[in-house]
Parts: sequence; structure tokens; C-alpha cells
Amino acid sequence: MSTRPAANALPHLENRERLSSQTLDMLVCPRDKQSLWEETSGLICPQGHRYAVIEGIPILLVSEVEQTHIEATRALLLAEAQDVSSLPQFQVAEDEIDPFVQNAIGATNGGLYQHLVGKLKEYPIPRLRLPQGNNRLFLEVGCNWGRWCLAAAASGYRPVGIDPSLKAIRAAKRVARQMGVEATYVVGDSRFLPFRDVFFDQVFSYSVLQHLSKANARDSLAEMRRVLRAGAGALVQMANVFGVRCLYHQMRRGFRETRDFEVRYWKPAELLAAFTAGIGPSELSADGYFSLNAQASDLRFLPARYRALVHVSEGLRKLSGSFPPLAKVADSLYISSRRTE
Ligand SMILES: [Zn+2]
Repeated sequence: MSTRPAANALPHLENRERLSSQTLDMLVCPRDKQSLWEETSGLICPQGHRYAVIEGIPILLVSEVEQTHIEATRALLLAEAQDVSSLPQFQVAEDEIDPFVQNAIGATNGGLYQHLVGKLKEYPIPRLRLPQGNNRLFLEVGCNWGRWCLAAAASGYRPVGIDPSLKAIRAAKRVARQMGVEATYVVGDSRFLPFRDVFFDQVFSYSVLQHLSKANARDSLAEMRRVLRAGAGALVQMANVFGVRCLYHQMRRGFRETRDFEVRYWKPAELLAAFTAGIGPSELSADGYFSLNAQASDLRFLPARYRALVHVSEGLRKLSGSFPPLAKVADSLYISSRRTE
């Protein structure tokens, strides 16, 4: 058994932000899932795997595998160099929208939000389609600047967000601080979650696994199951091969093989099989039609032409509740899965 070094054996630790014991308790080595403890330059596991902590953010990426996102490669380079001088320092006023979010809104929220780049006056916080949290622990996989973590906090969950982008996680921390929300954010990979087994009450992921190869998405589902408590659920959004808008996009790219961060379209039956095998008993429901990013709760942010689209999408979504076959042609699907044991 390994012994933890005493805190006073870490003379240089005061040079960086200490992790809270609550954060340390939930984290494990993403490679072997063993406990981590703090040392001078970051975190270390009993096998000697080391992870940098930058501005209080643990960088828990696995460097020897192919990364799923260019920002993961960038975060690894920074972690290796232990040099944060290239990171932009933002001073964001209380009533100002974070510059990262201003810039990223079209990418994180999708095409319907493109006109808002640089023009946001408030943060669009979507409505989470889950019951009240009652202080339960919520993990968002691929949280970027944390909109769903903020939504979860508003519903009474204790949010934890993970994303491969250090830039996005730095923004998520700034925005949470600005909004007075307590959230834990770490940099990591959905295929190698750095969290304890059987730990979370709810896993959530939106517009993330749809961008991964199907093999990487399946690996991520197995990790989601591992960190869920028995009886707890995952709610994951994916893109449907039979959605009208999705068919149009596939046609435009000539139904060729997908690559990089392009959206992967799944058949509903394929999704059900993958999620049932990966997590547990699963159900499909419609999230939206004619778009992969229609959020009824964000209507006031949208111009009239998009509002009409979101209204139609929302009408069809509600109808699909009483007419389930309609869900199978939604462009954006939710898969709700439960870990049974
Ligand atoms: Zn390790």
C-alpha cells in the first residue's frame, strides 16, 4: 500500500491552487483508476502516472493515445511544458459575457446560435430534461463552458464537468464563479474518465458523443456505466441517421466516411443496442427536429426564422410523447439508460 506524503513535504505546492479534498476524493488515475494524491507539480497515482494541475484544473488526459480533439493535444503540451504564460488572461467584469463564450457560442450551441457570436448579452442556459436534482451528483461529459452544468445547478444538482479543452474548462470556471454556481471542472477524456467507480447519480452529455467515432463513443459509454451508481441513469444526446436535416447533411457530404470531429449519424436501433450493451436498459426519445440544436428554453435568443423552426420542433417532440414512432425520425435523439447493477 502506498502512503500519502504529508502536506508539509510539498514545499512548492503553495505556488499553485490546492485542489479541494472533495475534488481529490472523486478523482482517480484515468489509466488505471487508482487513487491520486497531490505532489509538488500536480497529481500522481501509485503507478507513478503524473498529471499537471494548471490554475487549479487537473489535466487528466492520457497522452499516449490518439486524442479526440485538437484542444486535448494543446492541453497536453501545456501540461508537459508546465508553462502557462501562453494562456490568455481574461478579466471579465461582473455584467460582461465571458469572451470565450462570446466566441465559442456558435460552436458549442450549434448553427442556430451563429448570429450570437460576439453579441451575447446573457448566457443561454438551456432547460435540463431531467427531474429535480435534490443535491444529487451530476456529471456532464464534454461540458465545454458548462451550460448544462449551470442548467443542472439550477435544477438542484451538484455539477461536475469534464472536457478535453483546457480553454473551455478555464472559461467554465470563470462563468460558474461569475454566476455564483459551485461546480467542479476537470480536463479529461470521455474514454478514460478520471472518476471513481459507482460514484455519480446522473450522467449527462449533449452534442459530444455524436462527434466521436463509433468505437470511441462505445468506449465512452462503458466509462459512463463504470462511474454511475447502481440504479442511476445517463441521458445522452445523439444524431439520428433518419432525421430529415441529418439526411440532408449526409447527402451534402455524399454519404462518405466521417472523419475528425464531424457528426456521426446512428440508426435508432444501433443506438439502442450500443447503449443497452454499454450502460443498461435504454429508451429513445426525441430531442428536436430539423436541427441538432433546437432548445425551446432559448427561444428569446433566436431570430424569428429560427423561432418558427424551434416551435415546430417542440410541437413534434411533444407529439412524439404520445406517438413514439415519430421519435425515430427526430434529428436529435436522447437516449436514456439506466445502470441496473
Ligand atoms: Zn496511474
